[in-house]
Amino acid sequence: MTLAVYNTETRSKQVFEPVEEGKVCMYVCGPTVYDDCHVGHARTYVAFDTIRRYLEYKGYGVTYIQNFTDVDDKIIARAVEKGVPPLVLSERYVQEYFDDMGRLNVRRASIHPKASETIPDMIIVIQGLIEKGYAYEVNRSVYFEVEKARDIFGKLRHQSLEDMRDGARIEVDEEKRSPKDFALWKAAKPGEISWDSPWGRGRPGWHIECSTMSWKYIGRTLDIHGGGMDLIFPHHESEILQAEAYTGQQFVKYWLHNGFLEIDREKMSKSLGNFFTIKQVLERYDPMVLRFFLVYTHYRSPIDFSDAAMEEAATAFGRLTRLHMLLKDTAGELEEGVIPDLGEPDEDVLKTAFGLRKDFLEAMDDDFNTRVAIATFFEMDSKVKDLQKAGRLDRKHAYVLLSTMEELTAVLGLVFVEKEGRGIGGELAGGLVQLLIELRTEARSRKDWATADLIRDRLKGLGVRLEDGATTTWKLER
Ligand code: AMP
Ligand code: ZN
Repeated sequence: MTLAVYNTETRSKQVFEPVEEGKVCMYVCGPTVYDDCHVGHARTYVAFDTIRRYLEYKGYGVTYIQNFTDVDDKIIARAVEKGVPPLVLSERYVQEYFDDMGRLNVRRASIHPKASETIPDMIIVIQGLIEKGYAYEVNRSVYFEVEKARDIFGKLRHQSLEDMRDGARIEVDEEKRSPKDFALWKAAKPGEISWDSPWGRGRPGWHIECSTMSWKYIGRTLDIHGGGMDLIFPHHESEILQAEAYTGQQFVKYWLHNGFLEIDREKMSKSLGNFFTIKQVLERYDPMVLRFFLVYTHYRSPIDFSDAAMEEAATAFGRLTRLHMLLKDTAGELEEGVIPDLGEPDEDVLKTAFGLRKDFLEAMDDDFNTRVAIATFFEMDSKVKDLQKAGRLDRKHAYVLLSTMEELTAVLGLVFVEKEGRGIGGELAGGLVQLLIELRTEARSRKDWATADLIRDRLKGLGVRLEDGATTTWKLER
């Protein structure tokens, strides 16, 4: 089966053929870390986590780069407000990001480079752009001269330079040769965080960070570049200009952009104030209900966030959870990784399982259509009810359907955590959590923060929240 993806650049669905057979290099723009993430951010990162999972399921080796924008006006302003150094503030929100995403079962990227740690590389690229005649210095700032790259301009915006009115959604600045030009390096303002550069102290512009990181960590045409639709212009258009002017190569093969999470038809955003943080939503809902809510819409369509929509998702996910529980209970004790010898399943049940998998994969191959893919689980639910009615839901049949369901829900990053009193609340699971807490305490005493955080994040992803005090205690999130 072939995967087709919708490419914003060609405005069409195309067969997905990565540059190198069997390998996918993808880059997704990361958050600006000055506050807790809202559910709009969750939408984007869950969407690309699901895309990555599916590519891996299909057998690709995936390298996933996602940056943290930790040098930015908003961070500086918030740090001044709170009276903390900007990098202390941003580091705190990097950790909050990992915490929130861990709960939503969003896997960490292969690399999470930070802008603050990539400045020497950005300087190399900016110098290169000046040497090649694409950028100029004025008053210790450096700008990209868009006019010089007119052949490259417009790939995503689908407009020529002439069609773009000066000053429309771009800063008009006396210093620049043209209002269309954008900053690669900004001269430091008094008291602001800054770094040394050939042009004096200053800090990089936003767009240059992603072009530089792609070049530094991948060094060739990216197979996929992603982000929310708001990034198409000017951010991604500017990334193309910088990267292609610098390397002379195609920057990205497939541009994927997800739709917004909206409230009353308006994009959820910090600036509009119409947002709910992930933490707020998870006070009321299971993390898997939120993830299900997000993947139950195709990634390019808008999602309307409301209480009613969340309740609907909770009900639908509840149905799948009950289906999973029923299959698990019926299949009985299973040893992890071992295919049990339960006898030959009936042909029609095998066919049903294969058919459901085929439908699921066909939907995912169609530009990652998770909405249609999820419908196969509801179909499975109906089939299971039929089998039950006919008295044919025995161990072997439950096992065939359960393994299909678990294989496919894992592609969507959905896990079914058992409720208290069934698995996790039981003696063995409780003992295991306690053992992990002891290992974590031991890691902390060695100052091995990475291991300590990993244990905390992974438990959190499973719905177990650790609370550090004189001793560490745990409780279930639900
Ligand atoms: P920011 O931190 O604002 O730069 O955003 C980080 C990522 O989250 C970008 O890819 C945005 O497109 C995405 N994003 C922000 N708000 C929303 C939203 N309401 N719906 C979907 N994605 C969003
Ligand atoms: Zn970016």
